[in-house]
Amino acid sequence: MDHFELRNGELHAEDVSLAEIARQVGTPVYVYSRATLVRHAQVFREALSALPKVHIAFAVKSNPNLAVLRLLAKEGYGADVVSEGEMNRALAAGIAAQDIVFSGVGKTRAELKAAVQAGIGQFNLESEEEGAELAEIAAAMGRTAPCALRVNPNVDAGTHAKISTGKAENKFGVAYDRAVDIYARLAALPGLEMRGLAVHIGSQISDLEPSRQAFLKMGELMKALRGRGLAVTHMDLGGGLGVPYKAGEQLPTPADYGAMVAEVAGDWDATLMFEPGRVITGNSGVLVTEVVRVKQGANHPWVIVDAAMNDLARPAMYDAWHDFVAVRPSGESMIANIVGPICESSDTFALTRTIDAVKAGDLAVFRTAGAYGATMANTYNSRALVPEVMVDGDKWALVANRIEPATILAAEQVPEWLDLP
Ligand code: PLP
Repeated sequence: MDHFELRNGELHAEDVSLAEIARQVGTPVYVYSRATLVRHAQVFREALSALPKVHIAFAVKSNPNLAVLRLLAKEGYGADVVSEGEMNRALAAGIAAQDIVFSGVGKTRAELKAAVQAGIGQFNLESEEEGAELAEIAAAMGRTAPCALRVNPNVDAGTHAKISTGKAENKFGVAYDRAVDIYARLAALPGLEMRGLAVHIGSQISDLEPSRQAFLKMGELMKALRGRGLAVTHMDLGGGLGVPYKAGEQLPTPADYGAMVAEVAGDWDATLMFEPGRVITGNSGVLVTEVVRVKQGANHPWVIVDAAMNDLARPAMYDAWHDFVAVRPSGESMIANIVGPICESSDTFALTRTIDAVKAGDLAVFRTAGAYGATMANTYNSRALVPEVMVDGDKWALVANRIEPATILAAEQVPEWLDLP
């Protein structure tokens, strides 16, 4: 459920007209609904309420906007970060270092050091080599780093290949068969406190069975470690729960997910950790865009909008679907191809799609754009970096400025040996 609805024939975010935001901020612009974010955060937490010890670390990568992070901090969420930049955002938003999990396959030495310094709550180690390096860094600083070992369970999440992370051929985690020995060796190192295991098999997961299989495998590993006298107090089950991108699409709900986790892991006697991203932010945001023009096509008209693949990369990267609806629908529909202005054929949002009829100057939105939207934006084709707005009832605020091409140009310089004669 979200709070983007038609009121008097015009699409609103909560009580605010999207046309009014577009008039004041310009387009393209991301708009987030505070009420939707809060609801998703609470629904996810409630879905896990049968479990005795739970820590929820929001996957910052899905939407790192400072206002979004602050809102989730207020909801009691920790953060799952994958870079020093994300860590600093989470800290700046008021999330306690203790509640931050540091994931990622390529944490640099400098990042590990900064995270130890900050007192990060858990490092999810992706290799024995990383563990050895962290042990050395932490010991030299007179500190002990709390760690989980990320395991690759070799389970196919059944999602898009580019967001699948738990198959043996993916770069993430250590091989399942080697995990017990690696854990034992790392647990013996000064500077590390090995406290658990972590797993994350992919994103936009639409079938709970692969996750169930992965969690069962993790439970077996946990028992094997405990059988060798090793402490396992934390089990991080990652994120990945999918969201409906198409109106009417049925996916497992957070409650279904919570019931599955309770069935598999309810008696593990460990703190269960979760790293949801998309399920919190996905349907909490839309990308508002204006139709630049409609051009005749071979089969269908090209609806050319002022948002492009640099603003919303998912369709170009993952062939992802985003519903496209007019801000002031006329009731008429058309079959069209929707594209942006970038000079790439991959700058295509939809082909042969039945949409609300639109013409030049009309406003429309791409729905379910709150996750992996603005965070992946870039300035390709010397376009502006897209701004972000948050709505709260009848209030709204700009939560990220549009960064103009001139600002980016001003950060570049030409060496004097390229001076023109
Ligand atoms: N945790 C890890 C380690 C991830 O790589 C990701 C994203 O792929 C997430 C959590 C969040 O996934 P999602 O946004 O699908 O919940």
